[in-house]
Amino acid sequence: MEGFDVKDIFNELPTALPHKDSDLIVRAYDFALKAHQGQLRRSGEPYFIHVFETAKNLARYEMDATTIAAGFLHDVLEDTETTEAEMEKEFGKEIVKLVKGVTKLGTVKYQGHIRHVESLRKFLMALAQDYRVLMIKLADRLHNLRTLEHVREDKQRRIALESIEVYAPLADRFGIGKLKGEIEDAAFPFAYPKEYAEVEKILADRSENLKESLKSVYEELSNELKKSNIRVREIDYRIKHKYSLWKKLRERGMNIDNIYDVVAIRLIVETVEECYAALGIVHSLWKPLPARIKDYIALPKLNGYQSLHTTIFTGDGGLVEVQIRTEEMHGRAEFGIASHYLYKEHIGSKKNSKEKFQWMSEFKNLDKSNTDPDDFLKHLKSDFFSDRIFVFTPAGEVIDLPEGSSTIDFAYAVHSDIGDKASGARVNGKFVSLDTTLQSSDIVEIETRKDGVPKSKWLDFTKTTAAKKHIRTYLNEHSENSLLKRFLPKKFR
Ligand code: MN
Repeated sequence: MEGFDVKDIFNELPTALPHKDSDLIVRAYDFALKAHQGQLRRSGEPYFIHVFETAKNLARYEMDATTIAAGFLHDVLEDTETTEAEMEKEFGKEIVKLVKGVTKLGTVKYQGHIRHVESLRKFLMALAQDYRVLMIKLADRLHNLRTLEHVREDKQRRIALESIEVYAPLADRFGIGKLKGEIEDAAFPFAYPKEYAEVEKILADRSENLKESLKSVYEELSNELKKSNIRVREIDYRIKHKYSLWKKLRERGMNIDNIYDVVAIRLIVETVEECYAALGIVHSLWKPLPARIKDYIALPKLNGYQSLHTTIFTGDGGLVEVQIRTEEMHGRAEFGIASHYLYKEHIGSKKNSKEKFQWMSEFKNLDKSNTDPDDFLKHLKSDFFSDRIFVFTPAGEVIDLPEGSSTIDFAYAVHSDIGDKASGARVNGKFVSLDTTLQSSDIVEIETRKDGVPKSKWLDFTKTTAAKKHIRTYLNEHSENSLLKRFLPKKFR
């Protein structure tokens, strides 16, 4: 079809495909084009555009040929006369299974606030049945969000909120940071139009200054790195995604001066050693903001993210965040679990087993079984999702916790300060005691008191290590006789 050349799909992929893979994609393209012939989107455009863009999103995320082909076919069973048998004859069982997985998901609707969700857990489990089904669903959703202006107004907001509250956190959970940002930004104007306009205005007022700071740092750093023997793979910069900027603005009194990573320079180098060497160069050129130096290489984030972060004073009153990482870390930050597939040929090598997702270590025995992506998925399903619950903040953010978690676990998962000062809790609008065990899809609100402090009895009903650690740290530091205990012989205490 004109303007929708299958070559555009191949161009998104980093390498040329073997013939059997490119042939599969071309056949899926042709099949979908024929099946959707004559159908139109609400925008008046041919329906095929939607499946084409879905497949293209999958190619951008470097998914395999089977998944891209299923992307082309994902609406064929639901929206055309084509039967399952016909599709299976042409493409085999595996692709039919993926398409059916996506179709089935379409029937589970998340109706905004919570009590209407029959089982959010079922929904998430369905998503987790196959990682590729999730990716197709996310790629499909991203294109629907980007064409949301054509959808009926009352549906716009529901779809946008569902995307922000369920799909984006899920992408984040799987470490696909880039997709999370894309989904949130596409949904933001429809979910929160007023706030979106506000962020746009704040950014517009600032963008000239920001760009100038950024440019001077970028140029100076590039020059200095050339003189060193650090092998730079890539240096570029990014402006913070609008939705996450808004979330930060809300926390920081809507003042953009209180946000230090509105712009960030990204430096990709060859080795971990070169990451630290590059950080040294950055700090020799600009003064860093002390509390903002973060070593996520030595201490990765829970979703596996690794990088060095530092925020520097640019000298003209501005602040710029610099992020330094290796190419492999960068791949994981952008593609998350997808990079597990991308790098699967290295799995088993020493290097990979050392740098795998941090949170994978939650899965027992994963080390032994992660040689095969299918085994990996099995573990993801059984160990990761089956003993987790998903609960919500009043603002609709999803917090995931181990089964059996209490309101105290929730409070600490939201923020350590909220945990420390918790004085009461409301679950689904009702006051409950702090030892209440939470269920999936509860909406939880924590009340705090300025002078509130952690209690030792909380340890009896906390599940998460984070909560236990905060409580113990506080108790150790504040127990009345902590000094006496340390220095006096037992009988005098
Ligand atoms: Mn679709």
